[in-house]
Amino acid sequence: MLSALSAAVVLAGAPPAQVAQAGPLAQRVEAWLSSKGKPLTDYAKSFVRKLAEVAAREGAPMPHVAGIRSPRDQAKAMHNNYLSAQKKGGEAAGRGWVFATYGKGVYAKTVLGHFERIEKGEATFDDWHQYFAAYVKKSRIPSHTNGRAFDVTPRSDAVRKLIDMTIAEGTREKLFKLADFADEKSPPHFHIGLSASH
Ligand SMILES: [Zn+2]
Repeated sequence: MLSALSAAVVLAGAPPAQVAQAGPLAQRVEAWLSSKGKPLTDYAKSFVRKLAEVAAREGAPMPHVAGIRSPRDQAKAMHNNYLSAQKKGGEAAGRGWVFATYGKGVYAKTVLGHFERIEKGEATFDDWHQYFAAYVKKSRIPSHTNGRAFDVTPRSDAVRKLIDMTIAEGTREKLFKLADFADEKSPPHFHIGLSASH
């Protein structure tokens, strides 16, 4: 579903090819970028432009790029993922999902603590959302809530190759630096976090 903030914008659809496709593709990319407005950082924008350029040059369809989420959407997505892991594999699976996704440090333990308190009825989703919104506001880690992370789909070898080329060229041209890459399996996508390269 598309919404103003969680924009799973589909830039795909260009048939393999033709450099002539680069015109309309570039226009769609620019339209998507301007629809994102301020929350998207300049180096994140430069990544999407470079990805479109590489895809057009290689004659490959532009992958789908999903970008910004509000802190509330992100807090909800995290909680839902935890609940669905738990539903499939019990309490250990819920905990396992948190640690596999967020490491085993203080942050992961804090997140898990919030989820467990919600479960016991000692806290509400709003308590978790408020904590998370305050956390992302001061965090410098690239994320969907600060315009410095993307999900790219489909998750395939061809798309992985496009991403690798985009990152190599972007780094060389000092457009952006890869800060975080994850090959996510559920749902299948590549997660990319960026920071400025200078
Ligand atoms: Zn992501």
